[in-house]
Amino acid sequence: MLLFSIFGYPVAHSISPRLHNAVMQGLNLDGCYIRTPIENPNALMQTFKTLQLSGANVTVPHKEVAFTQCDEVRGIAQKIGAINTLVREGSRVIGYNTDAEGFYEAIKSFGTLHNALILGAGGTAKAIAMILKTHGIETTILNRSRQRLAFFEAEGFTCKTPEAFEGGAYTLIINTTSAGLKDEEYPCDATLLKSLFHHAKFAFDVIYNKPTPFLCLAKECNLTCKDGKEMLLYQGVLAFNLFFSNHYDLKTIESLMRPVFEL
Ligand code: NDP
Repeated sequence: MLLFSIFGYPVAHSISPRLHNAVMQGLNLDGCYIRTPIENPNALMQTFKTLQLSGANVTVPHKEVAFTQCDEVRGIAQKIGAINTLVREGSRVIGYNTDAEGFYEAIKSFGTLHNALILGAGGTAKAIAMILKTHGIETTILNRSRQRLAFFEAEGFTCKTPEAFEGGAYTLIINTTSAGLKDEEYPCDATLLKSLFHHAKFAFDVIYNKPTPFLCLAKECNLTCKDGKEMLLYQGVLAFNLFFSNHYDLKTIESLMRPVFEL
């Protein structure tokens, strides 16, 4: 039997086992996907090897550490500096980032985008910024503190902290901060956000299954909105495909994963 896992801390809330097990069942594969809480990031690769995993996903807070521990990193993950998917190839462990492509799949329905504003500058913001750059969409990063902007500045993005930000016209506004997850707070000043929404067409929040204050305000301003559900779905579809050497059709994987969100 092939064994897969999600690594993170905490992971009790993760929907990944249900997503991947649904596809393995649907395709009659002899495999199982489990949760493995890992507090100490130094234990990631040893745990992967001890459990004799064929593949794993990595979530908060280990994506950047996992990047440094892979035998090889492929694709856009090399530019992002964070991975969310590990695949065993013989005795080697290969790292990938499917969050970036997953996000891009999720926003395809928005059509042509002129530019975008990302709120937040963490690991998810890096993945989103790099995929938008790959597709030629001019992107600005707004973060509450300076420190994490260095990565984006080095990559040539326009970067701002709230004190130096005067607003502007952005087609798509993306919230990658965890503001709104636990508390009823906005990722930036509410008046500023309202004026940004006034000029925008689309709003995207990476948080899923919760009407965050960010998305509620965007809806009030008549923007087309999406939460992080489809991003999560597509990163899972792409990860599954990597686990099985791209053997299965993406649409088939998607059709087996999607119902899990509707249960
Ligand atoms: P990080 O911890 O790496 O980054 C968080 C960022 O948010 C930082 O820039 C931080 O600013 C900012 N921030 C945090 N709280 C606030 C606040 N109250 N107000 C303003 N800014 C704030 O997190 P990740 O990028 O790893 O994850 C972010 C979110 O994305 C999580 O909720 C995660 O669950 C979600 N996610 C969703 C995915 C999906 O598929 N839908 C995939 C991956 C992640 P500062 O630098 O000043 O601290």
